[in-house]
Amino acid sequence: MAEVNVNLGNRSYKIFIDVANKKIIATLMQNMKVNQKVLIVSDQNVGNLYGVELKKQLQQSGFIVELHCISPGEHSKCLDTAMELYTKAIVLGLDRNSTILALGGGVVGDLSGFVAATYLRGIPFIQVPTSLLSQVDSSVGGKVAVNHPLGKNLIGAFYQPKAVVIDIDCLHTLPDRELFTGLAEVIKCGVIADKNFFMYLNNNVQQILDKEPDALTEIIRRSCEIKARVVEQDEQESSLRAILNFGHTIGHAIEANTSFSIYNHGEAVAIGMYGAALISKYLGLCSEMTVANLKDTISKFKLPLSAPECNITELFALLYRDKKVVDNKINWVLLNEIGQVSICKQVPEDVVIRVLKEITVPNKIC
Ligand code: NAD
Repeated sequence: MAEVNVNLGNRSYKIFIDVANKKIIATLMQNMKVNQKVLIVSDQNVGNLYGVELKKQLQQSGFIVELHCISPGEHSKCLDTAMELYTKAIVLGLDRNSTILALGGGVVGDLSGFVAATYLRGIPFIQVPTSLLSQVDSSVGGKVAVNHPLGKNLIGAFYQPKAVVIDIDCLHTLPDRELFTGLAEVIKCGVIADKNFFMYLNNNVQQILDKEPDALTEIIRRSCEIKARVVEQDEQESSLRAILNFGHTIGHAIEANTSFSIYNHGEAVAIGMYGAALISKYLGLCSEMTVANLKDTISKFKLPLSAPECNITELFALLYRDKKVVDNKINWVLLNEIGQVSICKQVPEDVVIRVLKEITVPNKIC
């Protein structure tokens, strides 16, 4: 079992990472001294695979459990589904000492966390992330949200879980494309904070793609650790936490420009990381070799390097509509070398456009 501590004073919690790890949840909850009522929120894919078994396990330990499965996909991360969950919680009689347990990917985690943060002004919340992306990224750090028709994650809060339980076995049922998506965020962690971890990824490509438990444990542990150390220093994203957005400025624009239907989050972030590295090179911040290393790693993990379906003019406009733009200035996270990034608010428009042209040329999808 690997463990990562997230140290946030009285909001601190642990991330437990292991194979067959769902079995620890009942004991964990007994130790947390929450009451018996638990609402497990999942989606229909994950609920069918793991929800029924988890519900039974918790019931055998004396908990009163309801499993509620939402329809899978980003469209469920909305106020309508949140309302469905509030109603469920009220009908079940969940009180301030009852638990909401999120069993699923980032959609389930963000939505359930938002409901846990707002129902009765906040009730205990446990994350059991089942996609790689949610295990290495969305379940850690306390950002919870639902989408608004005018933008993603616009309605949300910072609300830390009581614990995160990662069961590596879940990854065996995860579709390959979803695994690659999560790997984009794993690569990002190496790029922003740890050259050795980046080398580890490159030296263990096959083990990771083959889902070998030791390799998976290592990439999840290290990614969680990197994110936790950043969040500990800047929980509410007033400065340092922005480095976690490396690749996301261009990535979000690509997702929006393709109506969230061609590239999923990690794929768009992979292209965005390559774009940010190219900007860094043209500004003289990093070497050609650094860009080549990143490009090579992105390809090795079966992620794309360009989005030919995008329109450069629209993409450019979308960059300035990102919710992280302040006073019409983009907070660019740029690359100095593998393992080190910096924030830059002044990137000349012609450099941005040059890079948008490069990342929209065809035939770079690996
Ligand atoms: P997701 O939750 O939609 O899951 C992707 C797909 O994989 C779904 O169809 C799901 O049913 C399926 N799935 C999940 N686990 C599975 C398993 N073990 N076996 C089989 N199928 C499985 O998407 P995601 O990529 O996990 O998360 C994306 C969401 O996370 C987005 O809404 C994004 O905004 C959010 N996010 C949040 C943060 C944060 O800090 N809160 C960070 C990054 C992303």
